[in-house]
Amino acid sequence: MRTQVGIIGGGPSGLLLSQLLHLRGIDTVVLEKHSRDYVLRRIRAGVLEHGFAALMREAKVGERMDREGQIHEGFYIAHDGIKERVNLKELTGGNTVIVYGQTELTRDLYEGRDRLDGIVIHNAEDVKPHDFDTSRPYLTYRQGVDAVRVDCDYIIGCDGFHGVSRQSIPKDKMREYERVYPFGWLGVLSRTRPVSPELIYATHERGFALCSLRSPTLSRYYIQVPLTDSVEDWSDAKFFEELQRRLPEDVAAAMITGPSIEKSIAPLRSFVVEPMRFGRLFLAGDAAHIVPPTGARGLNSAASDIYYLYHALVDHYTKRDDAGLESYSRRALARVWKGQRFSWWMTALLHRFPDSSAYDRRLQETDLAYLFSSQKALASLAENYVGLPF
Ligand SMILES: Cc1cc2nc3c(=O)[nH]c(=O)nc-3n(C[C@H](O)[C@H](O)[C@H](O)COP(=O)(O)OP(=O)(O)OC[C@H]3O[C@@H](n4cnc5c(N)ncnc54)[C@H](O)[C@@H]3O)c2cc1C
Repeated sequence: MRTQVGIIGGGPSGLLLSQLLHLRGIDTVVLEKHSRDYVLRRIRAGVLEHGFAALMREAKVGERMDREGQIHEGFYIAHDGIKERVNLKELTGGNTVIVYGQTELTRDLYEGRDRLDGIVIHNAEDVKPHDFDTSRPYLTYRQGVDAVRVDCDYIIGCDGFHGVSRQSIPKDKMREYERVYPFGWLGVLSRTRPVSPELIYATHERGFALCSLRSPTLSRYYIQVPLTDSVEDWSDAKFFEELQRRLPEDVAAAMITGPSIEKSIAPLRSFVVEPMRFGRLFLAGDAAHIVPPTGARGLNSAASDIYYLYHALVDHYTKRDDAGLESYSRRALARVWKGQRFSWWMTALLHRFPDSSAYDRRLQETDLAYLFSSQKALASLAENYVGLPF
């Protein structure tokens, strides 16, 4: 098989890039290790910045997002028994975010690929990129007993944190930066009316909590838990009791609880690999960087990589201009690191660190007090939350 751009990974990054390139007449093949059902069962991100939403529209898959997604003009930070609002729209001169589940967005991308007869190969086993340090890279994979080869001009690694792309780059050609946090988020999805129409990030002496949502009838709640905890340690009743203890009284009293339809623990980690390109292999999204979910940067950082790659590849194929490909890693990393900084800052501001001193605690309190006493500090938070320009 031959294509122009071979993409490893059929998550949001890979699907969005293949859809955008297809619309500009550029051939792609997406190789996804799992079945479509499996990919669509993963409950992950839910807050989209306006730049991501614009890319979805450009990819002609934004119709349902615009119809069913909820525009959020602000969110709350709860502390010391009160909640204070961050008015994103006012602080950024009109910008907002859209709450729309990653599951729905991925479904829309798959349907977009289907409408254009895009090639997405599921259950592709043992995918491997080859010869990407030459001008003739290719991919191989197995499907049952068949071994398949895909020749291409470029390989894009969109295969997430545990994928094969980054691992294929020689270790001495890249540098990894990492911070592992000493806690995780226990998340519960529940078919109940969300306690608040806007997200509430709560900091409390018992730990962080987040009241999020996916729709007017689907709530997504999280609490900070030690890494030693497992899902089995947390019945639904125990989860909601702990969540309510970490929220202001009026919020806790208004909460409607119900059985969980999904419950999982996600460890928190910050990670970046540099550079994001090796020869004709380019990394994008979680394959190159991940953040703790505080601040909702994960999926949105993936979107900016796709934006840069999309334009770079279009320039290559339509104008024979390789400046975008040459500068991809530098440009993408500049924005990635800003997302890393913001996620780290929000995580440090709102969580309880097991080894923190009384001094660290005072600094956290002062950071919070400063935030709500300064329009400039709030504007900086808001500017980062709605998404810095690509
Ligand atoms: C549990 C969890 C919760 C999260 N919550 C949030 C949140 O609240 N907010 C937020 O902004 N972000 C969140 N994120 C991050 C967000 O989901 C990711 O940033 C986003 O999924 C990145 O998309 P991606 O396409 O780059 O990678 P992925 O979504 O990881 O997709 C990679 C794809 O590649 C496939 N793949 C992997 N290896 C191979 C291989 N060898 N061959 C072929 N295919 C392969 C995988 O099956 C997968 O479909 C969360 C992530 C996790 C894991």
